[in-house]
Amino acid sequence: MAEDTAKTETNEKNMIELRNVNKWYGSFHVLKDINISVRRGERIVICGPSGSGKSTCIRCINRLEEHQEGDIIVNGVPLTNDLKNIDTVRREVGMVFQHFNLFPHLTVLQNCTLAPIWVRKTPKKQAEEEAMKYLERVKIPQQALKYPGQLSGGQQQRVAIARSLCMNPAVMLFDEPTSALDPEMIKEVLDVMVELAESGMTMICVTHEMGFAKTVADRVIFMDEGQIVEENEPHAFFENPQHERTKLFLSQIL
Ligand code: ADP
Ligand code: MG
Repeated sequence: MAEDTAKTETNEKNMIELRNVNKWYGSFHVLKDINISVRRGERIVICGPSGSGKSTCIRCINRLEEHQEGDIIVNGVPLTNDLKNIDTVRREVGMVFQHFNLFPHLTVLQNCTLAPIWVRKTPKKQAEEEAMKYLERVKIPQQALKYPGQLSGGQQQRVAIARSLCMNPAVMLFDEPTSALDPEMIKEVLDVMVELAESGMTMICVTHEMGFAKTVADRVIFMDEGQIVEENEPHAFFENPQHERTKLFLSQIL
């Protein structure tokens, strides 16, 4: 139950706080003293070279990965080994992955209603009505009775976004949501993400879509080798990067 979960001392405005977070895979130090504060309604873009720890970092925020040192606090709830806290945080954090991760044997509508029915105990009819509302929002209500394999990649990713939204999350995490898509499908997914940002959702997006970053991000964080090398508001980040590693990275992707 959310009500009796121990809340910790935190800035009320901060939806997510990572304080001196360190993580190792065996002896490999993958996250090095990561500090990130995300205010309610803020949109953060994380970019950086492959292998820099971006996925690991956001996966720690809903405990798909465990950190070993430092504090991660989501909406006032600290992520510890307390299963109750982990459960509370997972209900508040939606996640969209590169490879959609839809259930292939369930229809689009069933993908969207599974968690509301089984986790939130929402009555089936109500869950279906709410799912249709989100499928309309991502502009694919007419695909509700199809299976994921019958949809394009862009449509599948929009289903994945709708499915997350059905749990009414306080925060949405995106891990390279467009990098597995054909170019002509990237825009339809980014459009949905821009709309979500404009609706006031708190978002952390790992993406190399710099147009998206410039349009919606309040801050861009650049990671390399497990560290935050640089962070800034998008204009300054792109026009005037401070570190050599950032300059090199931007010269390779822009
Ligand atoms: P990015 O998302 O920036 O590409 P990742 O967070 O996926 O980076 O990975 C960071 C580093 O950690 C990489 O060197 C990767 O090989 C390593 N790594 C990722 N997951 C694991 C794992 N489960 N076990 C061991 N090493 C891992
Ligand atoms: Mg990654």
